[in-house]
Amino acid sequence: MDLRSPFAASLASLPHQEGARIPWSRRIPAPADMGLEMIGVPEGGDLDIDLELNSVSEGVYVSGSVRAPIAGNCARCLREIAGSVDEPIGELVLYPQRQAALVEEGDEEAGQMPVVDSDHIDLEPIVRDAVVLSLPFVPLCKGDCRGICPGCGQLWEDLPEGHAHEAPADRGDPLAALEARLRAEEEGE
Ligand SMILES: [Zn+2]
Ligand SMILES: [Zn+2]
Repeated sequence: MDLRSPFAASLASLPHQEGARIPWSRRIPAPADMGLEMIGVPEGGDLDIDLELNSVSEGVYVSGSVRAPIAGNCARCLREIAGSVDEPIGELVLYPQRQAALVEEGDEEAGQMPVVDSDHIDLEPIVRDAVVLSLPFVPLCKGDCRGICPGCGQLWEDLPEGHAHEAPADRGDPLAALEARLRAEEEGE
């Protein structure tokens, strides 16, 4: 872990004693790539992180919330979307020796959990997961967005009722013609 990272939380003032806790609140500019393809936190946007680091027997329980601006595009009409998220955080960060003991006991899940490193916690993946997992895979500008006409790209809601485009000239469909001929032959018998 890079201890100079703004997401590196020092545990120097947190006693290794169950029930002890320290507050950890920061405003940090969002790193790049905190989001999904269509929507995410703009790079440099304010991440308002408000946490408590709680000493528990197995490590440190991180609890609190993160607020962040989000921006993206509607998956149906591509109009820009802007908003914000306010997500709860609750994550157990294990002491490394505790993780090793759990893995030894066959707890495979423990092997995937974050660990305390050099008396610090890297909050970046924890904050990132809280924000990214809250984002919609199909962001919409509004729930009933009707999207755009594939013929002209205009918003359906701006187009008059019954809007349509002339079908492309019939170039003849050989398969359909064959089917029609067979059907006619069958009926002729
Ligand atoms: Zn839309
Ligand atoms: Zn159209």
